Amino acid sequence: MSDPNDYTVGWICAIDTEYVAAQEFLDEEHPRLASQDPNDNNIYTLGRVGQHNVVIACLPHWNYGLVSAANVASDMLRTFTNVRFGLMVGVGGGVPTKQDIRLGDVVVSSLDYANGAVYQYDFGQTVQDKAFRATGHLDAPPLLLQAAVQDLKTTYRRHGNQIDKAIAAVLERNPRLEEEYRRPDPITDRLYKNTFTHAGPSHQSCTSVCGDDESTLIIRDARQKYDDNPKVHYGLIASSNQLMKDALVRDRLAEEKGVLCFEMEAAGLMNHFKCLVIRGICDYSDSHKNEAWKGYAAMAAAAYAKDLLGRIAPSRVEAEEKIRVLSRIYEVVEKAQDIAKQGLQTQIDFARERMSEKENMCLQLFFLTTDGKDATYESYKDRVEERVDGTCMWFLEHENFQKWLKQESGPLLVSADPGCGKSVLAKYLIDHYLPRSATICYYFFKDQDQNTVRQALCALLHQLLTKKPSLIEHAISQYDKKGKGLINSTKSLWEVLQIAVKDPQAGPIIIVLDALDECAQSEFEDLIRNIERQFPSDHFDHGKLKYILTCRPYDQIVSEFSNLLHSFPNIRIPGEEESETISQEVNHVITCRINQLSTTKRLNSDIKSHLEKRLQETSHRTYLWVHLVFDYLEGVDFKKTLKGLESTMTTLPKSVNEAYEKILNKSNDKERRMVRKVLSVILAASRPLTLSEMNVAVNIEDTSESFRDLDLEDEEDFERRLRSWCGLFVLIHHRRVYFLHQTAREFLLADLASPTTVSPELHWHHSITAQDAHAVLAELCVRYLNFFNSDTTLPTDANGAAGHPVDGHAFLDYSAKNWGAHFREASIIDDAAIVPPTTKICNPDSKSYSTWFTIYWEMTHTKCFTDLMVASHFGLNAVVKQLLENGAELEAKDETGRTPLVEAIEGQHVAIVKRLLETGAKVDYHYQRRVSESDRRRMGDNKDDS
Ligand SMILES: [Zn+2]
Repeated sequence: MSDPNDYTVGWICAIDTEYVAAQEFLDEEHPRLASQDPNDNNIYTLGRVGQHNVVIACLPHWNYGLVSAANVASDMLRTFTNVRFGLMVGVGGGVPTKQDIRLGDVVVSSLDYANGAVYQYDFGQTVQDKAFRATGHLDAPPLLLQAAVQDLKTTYRRHGNQIDKAIAAVLERNPRLEEEYRRPDPITDRLYKNTFTHAGPSHQSCTSVCGDDESTLIIRDARQKYDDNPKVHYGLIASSNQLMKDALVRDRLAEEKGVLCFEMEAAGLMNHFKCLVIRGICDYSDSHKNEAWKGYAAMAAAAYAKDLLGRIAPSRVEAEEKIRVLSRIYEVVEKAQDIAKQGLQTQIDFARERMSEKENMCLQLFFLTTDGKDATYESYKDRVEERVDGTCMWFLEHENFQKWLKQESGPLLVSADPGCGKSVLAKYLIDHYLPRSATICYYFFKDQDQNTVRQALCALLHQLLTKKPSLIEHAISQYDKKGKGLINSTKSLWEVLQIAVKDPQAGPIIIVLDALDECAQSEFEDLIRNIERQFPSDHFDHGKLKYILTCRPYDQIVSEFSNLLHSFPNIRIPGEEESETISQEVNHVITCRINQLSTTKRLNSDIKSHLEKRLQETSHRTYLWVHLVFDYLEGVDFKKTLKGLESTMTTLPKSVNEAYEKILNKSNDKERRMVRKVLSVILAASRPLTLSEMNVAVNIEDTSESFRDLDLEDEEDFERRLRSWCGLFVLIHHRRVYFLHQTAREFLLADLASPTTVSPELHWHHSITAQDAHAVLAELCVRYLNFFNSDTTLPTDANGAAGHPVDGHAFLDYSAKNWGAHFREASIIDDAAIVPPTTKICNPDSKSYSTWFTIYWEMTHTKCFTDLMVASHFGLNAVVKQLLENGAELEAKDETGRTPLVEAIEGQHVAIVKRLLETGAKVDYHYQRRVSESDRRRMGDNKDDS
């Protein structure tokens, strides 16, 4: 049996072809180990090369990439604690522009004096910065190896290398490898021009589809008598999780940094596992993949590695420092992911440049924003906080998650109680942890404004098609049928997604859906059925699609997954059962926050540890609670004695709801009215308002008649005021106003159906009904739009000519598009004060009408509307009633024959239909329901056609 302590050189391969080549270059193979570290999952081949004992490991099947390489290396170090350095030996893609690199040649990573030891690359920044940016400070290969490379280089120069002969000797000894590993016919070494992409499907060879046309090829002379063949090149090797297969990007990077070779593993190792990268060139990093050269290139790299080891004295190896065992593999993984994070960008930008105008328009459509006024799906992820180091481990280490990571397809459902960091976890997985070899698409559901499946699908498609532009054809076929209406049809969007993920070009895909419980209830079941449909139980092959779904542990959600449980028994990670572990992690956060607090407050160690102990004793502690409690502690001025601390502890909020109450109670009576207004607006708003919109909205008073009455402070001051009113309860992110957390919305919102017993200490708790909130916003919108009916010489000219710095028009877009819906939802009573101004803005002859109407109707030119039609269209009961009482024309028609009754029917406003019929409206049988897709859009109707 072999002793792991005898091995000092670690040799790592990525694929089987390389593993076989490595084994063939051993001078002697040793027996396997009797045992290895229980956490070491590698399989090894042990042996001797020259005077060195070498341990060879290969990455798991299909799991190549930086992270996988980092895992294999760190596992190796668990068992082989005497390993001094590593060799990454295998194949890579060559860059033929700067040096005469040909297939079968070898590239060795060496210091480039202009760039230092930059091996890790991030081609994300290249387009914007026009520069090739190193994303990590990568260690150079150990000096010992650098010296050996130099030594071998001079020998090769004098005598030529013997690589081809060494390979021939291996094949002679083991003829069964001949077919796969011999040097292919030189004619198959075709270098195409960088503008000529592979002319057929990837499984068809260049011989059959690309051919030997001189106009597409770069012709190179055969190598001369004293030229090495294969030749060894020394320079920069670029490493990323993304396979380089775009010749234009390749040449741009080669030009900027002198990269000689692209590969996918080394960056996962460099800083943690001192190593040298040796790559046999099997293709040219372009769209023409060349399977034929893989075997020979792998042999060439292995032959070089063996030559190199022959240059190093074993005593010198012993003198090298041992590699420290990595205690925290997560750090490595995280780092590698950070590096690869934007690795796709350049390729994406190139592909985008090549997209047709139509394809670009279709892609842009999925972004669901045209004018920058809407919050994007990205901003919902961005505003989630970063993980505190050492947290989320309950999940990352969970057996089911680890299994899911390794499997090729399938869903994973993570449930956890509110405030336990589900969204933080989702963001961390997306940004740092999930393997970059997959295309990662996400959507963060948000109650109220990001809660439809339609929005989610658009976001997913926008990401998928941006990252995999070749899949756009699947969207185009639907776009041709539906036009812009495509994004309003959940059914068609599902079709596009289902087909796109099955396309072999899609590769592995991971979809992360956060907060399923915040998806609109009416759509939830359909969402789950469609996810199920992607994993049919009568199919063994589910492609390479994976889901991570997070939600609160609600029975009605979790029970929806019973069908999937059959095919995926490990589908669920119930965080609520991990509360002990999560509490431990929360304790860790408490410790971190106390350390910060003690610096700002200068707490002595007694106080510090007492506070720590008291906080960690609290039951039901969540991340959210900790966040709020520390905000409170930072704000109060407590006496820094044990007694002083104790008396502060009694005032400390014991629950999240108590904390919310405390925050909102800071406002005085006068402010309270404003706070309520702000909170109502956030509750009801159909999308998050910007600061400037909010500034205008909350400054509209019952007495405001015109823009002159708006008393606006500038935006910075308003932001400060908002902060002092609402504290942490409200979050301002990218100049938009949100609630801190979903629980904040739930805290405020009173449920009419089941009035909860409101505790007397909590004044804000369940204090606003949805209807109240809509009424507040409806009134603000209507009053605002009515300003346009007053004297319209505005002091708030946008260019500030009149000396007013704040844009009073900021609220126009929102109120024009949404006032009707808020009015309807508010169920405003017939004689409410808001009814008269509403009838004014409904009147087509009014100034305000022409202002909001053009925005609401955007591109239509329908002019002959009446006030009754407008009110019927929006379903405004009280307004319809008043207009009818004032003798509004019941049968007014527009040019297409639409009447108020038609409007009410189409809007499904039953009460108004009834009222109109009772008043004597005629049902016009000649009116055809010509509600084409474009008409619907004109109607602003987003209802699904499925
Ligand atoms: Zn080709």
